[in-house]
This record gives sequence, structure tokens and C-alpha cells, in this order.
Amino acid sequence: MTAPLPEFPGLSKEAIKQTILPEVFQWSLANGLIMYPAGFSPESASITPISLYPTPIRKDCFQDAIDVQKAYNKLYAKISQNSADNWLTQRMEEFADADPEFTGKLWALYLEVKKIGISQKLKLGVFRSDYLVDQKSKQIKQVEFNTVSVSFGGLSSKVGELHQFLNDTGKYSPRGLPFYLNEIPVSASSQLLADGLAAAIKKYDGSNAIVVFIVQHNERNVFDQRILEYNLFKAYNIKSIRLTIDQIHTHTKMDETSKRLFLSSTNEEIGLVYFRSGYTPNDFVTEQDWKNRLQLEVSYAIKAPDLLTQLSGAKKIQQMLTDESQLERFISDDKIRDRLMKTFVKIYPLDNTPLGIKGKKLAFESPENYVLKPQREGGGNNIYKEDIPTFLSKLKEDEWEAYILMELIDTSVHDNILIRGSEIFHEPIISELGIYGCILFDDENIYTNDYSGWLLRSKFSSSNEGGVAAGFGCVDSVVLY
Ligand code: ADP
Ligand code: MG
Ligand code: MG
Repeated sequence: MTAPLPEFPGLSKEAIKQTILPEVFQWSLANGLIMYPAGFSPESASITPISLYPTPIRKDCFQDAIDVQKAYNKLYAKISQNSADNWLTQRMEEFADADPEFTGKLWALYLEVKKIGISQKLKLGVFRSDYLVDQKSKQIKQVEFNTVSVSFGGLSSKVGELHQFLNDTGKYSPRGLPFYLNEIPVSASSQLLADGLAAAIKKYDGSNAIVVFIVQHNERNVFDQRILEYNLFKAYNIKSIRLTIDQIHTHTKMDETSKRLFLSSTNEEIGLVYFRSGYTPNDFVTEQDWKNRLQLEVSYAIKAPDLLTQLSGAKKIQQMLTDESQLERFISDDKIRDRLMKTFVKIYPLDNTPLGIKGKKLAFESPENYVLKPQREGGGNNIYKEDIPTFLSKLKEDEWEAYILMELIDTSVHDNILIRGSEIFHEPIISELGIYGCILFDDENIYTNDYSGWLLRSKFSSSNEGGVAAGFGCVDSVVLY
């Protein structure tokens, strides 16, 4: 039995504007719950889009999502290890070319690196598995599994602390008493993700090795990344620097024999390359950028993630794993496999297999139940419901194979107030729970496998997508019931 749904605090818009918003702004600025605004200059930050209140999540669902994370980490590590008779290689040979612009290029890059030789066997997975709670079954259902550049682990901790502060100091209630008597947990992701990066450096054989964050130009979500960097230094004395992909050949050098990578300016050795970019073709502008990605992969530095781990996060792979006979190759334990299977909704390929033929039919007969996804990351790429048939009709049928058709997850709507700059929106929202995990492994062994905290992102229930950076959503926290 779960407790009753926590009430929504019924403060007036006036009370919110006059009393709570200044609290929120000042807490956020004092504690770094911030982002750069569009067209920013480096000295001026603004408050991250957030929800005013934590959003109710069932305790059993929250716990389920946490409980399966290590099994998910291990599953994707095994795929990346190319276990089950080179399963990933075989799958890539089948479908990488369906997306020549990106998946195909990453795959070609991997083949090139393999020819040159892979000098570093260790890989670090910094993952996030995203879920919506299905309102009918009251179970978590997976939206996607991210294996590259997972974000908001730093800010997630901050927003939980803000909500806890506002509640515990009575700011949500006109009488100055805590409003939510239920638990408002704080995600430890800002430390746990730093711990994950540290585990890789500790295992790396080189002294005083540093971490390179590979970041986008004009990144607005800098502070989320910086929080990890500062925690890493504070807890472990491990230094980090930030480079963009186009700076690799000018700012680093590789020893041709040992393949060890060094920062040119200081000669410090780079033990870990942590990608907070490189998940979209837009992150590679010139041929030099691709060469630089290759150089990083060839180098002896540990990659988070290496190319195979990044490729294992393809949406096409997610679709294939919903077939239990495929999942069985990686997870022999029936109980664990069962738990993961329970988190899946139906996902169809759009090819000429029996399942694919069914998928094609459903896409045209009942598109209102589906979302169509290309092999892309970072939000804003999907096609929803009634737009699917028109979209597909504009493509040649053999081009459909680059997409997957996924059942829409029907999640409950909650009340909340979203804050974006000085604007507040009182609208129904839906929330997506993300669970972080870190895993350090090579082709034979898993060295560390950890759950690394959580994230709740919310968006207007009227919008299809919920990217905070892309501009449709906000960072939220949970109140458990
Ligand atoms: P991306 O890698 O671009 O983040 P996602 O698969 O996470 O791609 O899709 C983006 C967003 O679309 C999700 O955050 C969610 O809001 C919505 N979405 C994706 N799949 C589903 C689904 N099966 N049911 C409901 N909403 C979904
Ligand atoms: Mg997503
Ligand atoms: Mg994604």
C-alpha cells in the first residue's frame, strides 16, 4: 500500500510572486542552481528552469527504478564488451548504414580504430536510464537508456536541496510549517557521478592523471558539469580541464609508442576522457573534429564512453532488447531478466521482419498510440502520433529502417508551478525519472558497478518533449508517497 497522494500547496499567485520567488531566486544564485541564458556572456548566469514544488512519485516505482540500475549497467557493459558472439558488431553491420550521417560514422570510426589497435581496454560507462510511470499498471516503463553525455546529475542534487529547504523552513505553507510531511529525498548524483569518474582515474596506471571534459561550444549547462569537476577535486584531488573536440590536436599530444595522452601546455597525463558532447552529428563540424575523435579513441586514456559503449545506447539496440530471446543472451538469470522485461513497452522495427511488418501497419492504422524515433539524442528529434504517417509517406520505404516505433507511455498528470526566468506557469505537468549508474569494465571484467543517483525532469503535459536545455522542460525533484 502506498500512502495517499500528497496535496498540492494552494498558495495564491500573489503569495508566490511576493514571498516564495525571491527565496527561490536567492537560494538558486547562492547555491549554483544556474545555467547560462541564450546568447550569454561568461559573467552572467541565470536560474535553471525548475519546478517550484517537488512532484509526487510512488515510493515503490522510485525504488524499482533504483533497484534495476546495476542490472542495466551490466547489460550495457556486456553489450559493449561484444559478448554473446560479437552481438553488437553483428547488429552494427546490419543497421549502422541506415543512419549514414551519425551511427554509420561512429561505426566506421570504430572499425578504423580497431585496425590501428585498441590500446586501452578499460571503459567507463556513465549511464542514465529514463522512465515514465505508467498510470494504468503503476509500473515504471523505460523511455530510453542513455550511454553518452548524460546531464543534470549536478543540478538534480541542487533542486532537491532547494525543495527540501523551502519545505523544512515552512516557505510552502502560509503558517510557516513544513507542508510536505512525506519524504523529499535529495539525489546524491552530484557526488556519486564524481565518484564514478574517480574510480576510472584510480584504476588508470599513471600518476596524477587528470580528466578532460569534452564539451560543446557555447555550452549553457556548464554549471551542471562544473559541479562534478569541483566535487572530483574536493573529494579526490583529481584535476579536470575542459576542451572542445576541435582543440584536441592543438591542446593535447599523444606519445606514439605508449599512446599516452598529455595536455600540451603542462605535460599532465590525461587518464580519462569524459564526453559531455559528441552525441549528435552537429558536434562534429569539420573532418578534423572526426580525426580528433579518432585520436581520443586510439589513445591510452580511458574513455567515458568509448565508441562501442556509445553505440550500445542506440535506440535500435533498445528495440532489439525488448525481444526476450535477445535479452537472454546477456542475462541468464530469469528473475533479473524478468524485472527488466517489466520495464519495457512494445517497440517495433520498421523493416521486413514479421515484427517490422506489424510495426509498419500500426504506424498507419493507430499512430495515436506511438512515437517514431530516429537514431538521435538530445531531444527534439521524435515524431509523434498523427504526424507519423505523413512523415513516413515522405520517405522511401527502405529508409524507414532507420527508425523505431515505440508505444507511448501514458503517465499521470500532476499539478505544479514551473519557473522560467521571471515567468511562472501553473500548468499540469508530466515527469520523467532518470536513474544514473557508473560502471568500469574491460572486455573480461567488471571492476565497479554502482547506482549513482537520480533526476526528475518535468514538462507541460501539453508538450511532446521535455528537454531542459532544448527549452521545453525543467528540473524537478520528488516527494515520495
Ligand atoms: P532523446 O534521446 O532525444 O532524449 P527520448 O527517447 O528520450 O530521446 O525522447 C525524448 C522525449 O520524448 C522523452 O523525454 C519523452 O518526453 C518523450 N517520449 C519518448 N518516448 C516516449 C514514450 N514511449 N512515451 C511517452 N513519451 C515519450
Ligand atoms: Mg531522452
Ligand atoms: Mg537520449
